[in-house]
Amino acid sequence: MPAMRATILAVGSELLSTERLDTNSLRLTALLERRGVELIKKCIVGDLASELAREIRALWESSDLVLVSGGLGPTADDLTREAAAVALGVDLREDPDTLAEIERRFAALGRRASPNNRKQAAVLAGARVLDNPNGTAPGQLFERDGKALFLFPGVPFELDRMAADALVPWLETHSDGVARETWTIKVAMRPESEVDQSLARAYAEFGGEWITVLAGAGEVRVLLTAVGPDRQRQERLRAMRERTLALLGDGVFGEGAETTLEFVVAGLLAAAGWTLATAESCTGGLVAERITRVPGSSRVFVGGVVVYSNQLKCALLDVAPELVEREGAVSEAVARAMALGVRKRLGSDVGVSITGIAGPDGGSVEKPVGTVHLALAGPPGAAVEHRAARFPGNRERIRMFASQMALEMLRRRLIAARPARPAEDVR
Ligand code: ATP
Repeated sequence: MPAMRATILAVGSELLSTERLDTNSLRLTALLERRGVELIKKCIVGDLASELAREIRALWESSDLVLVSGGLGPTADDLTREAAAVALGVDLREDPDTLAEIERRFAALGRRASPNNRKQAAVLAGARVLDNPNGTAPGQLFERDGKALFLFPGVPFELDRMAADALVPWLETHSDGVARETWTIKVAMRPESEVDQSLARAYAEFGGEWITVLAGAGEVRVLLTAVGPDRQRQERLRAMRERTLALLGDGVFGEGAETTLEFVVAGLLAAAGWTLATAESCTGGLVAERITRVPGSSRVFVGGVVVYSNQLKCALLDVAPELVEREGAVSEAVARAMALGVRKRLGSDVGVSITGIAGPDGGSVEKPVGTVHLALAGPPGAAVEHRAARFPGNRERIRMFASQMALEMLRRRLIAARPARPAEDVR
């Protein structure tokens, strides 16, 4: 049987403005990818009945599966049901069960359904109503001539639940089971080209088209993709993952699309029983902000200071004024003094410092924009470590790079200090 081809339509004028991003399509795309269904087009249409009907008709003609989200609410600008009826040439009928369910939901909230809500009980003739446990707008599944159209609500939280309940099982029985799965491996502070070179053996073994290297500010993501029936796919992904981890070694800070460096560092700090204090200049508290994003970080983070002026560096962190005078605020010596000072003043096991020039002004020939000095002091007995960097990009990127480097320095020190694992754990 030929592979199924899908299209996605996001409905809502707000999605055409700068106000809101169409994230529903991404959620639906992820589900299609998992079942190996090819997405051939996605588009956005505002709340305009004629345009909606035209687009739904075109998508229905060009694909086997059309996924529409949004425009199922009770208001005048919710036009998806009507447009789909016109596009498919079918009637809309009021479904008594759906109406009763809508009325029941309102009664449960101590309210009465308004006449507008009646609109939400209008169902395409022949369609199946899809329950919406998280909202009032029911979805619909219309099938004809081997093709299918799903209408989902726009609210992402409602769509997620309905897609899990109705679309996923539908895809399982209708797609050919050649699912696609992606696994993410993350590396910090290494150039994309270097990661790419390290993976040469994996490309040769598994095929370069299944391994994608994506660079961000101070973070490289390696995406491993496998397709095929469940067992075959999972085995291949496991083999690719093991090879990739071996090739990248301790450059890998985490796995999974959601994993962040701050999360990993907070976990390692907790495991080591160390506390952290930060002294930041050009990053304005970004490292502290990132660490405190992690739930439970109070166990490992004592606090941080933002010391923008030279005066405050000296007053709060015991940096000698002569040192600032002689070396400049953005220097190795000052970074070292800041890390030692914050550790001592805040009473933590380790202290991290950042001082740099984020730009766009303030650079010089010796210290251009992007120059950053970082230092890490502690735990007791360890030498103070210093790094100097010259980061590319605008202010935002330079700040992000700097915070990433500080966290990566910390991670490296934490893994170096980790007790060796028992022999049987070592692979
Ligand atoms: P409801 O009746 O529950 O309001 P609906 O189907 O009418 O559902 P919309 O009114 O189109 O949905 O959108 C509801 C909310 O969901 C809005 O805040 C909207 O911005 C958001 N939303 C709609 N479509 C998308 C999308 N594609 N991506 C992200 N958010 C979306």
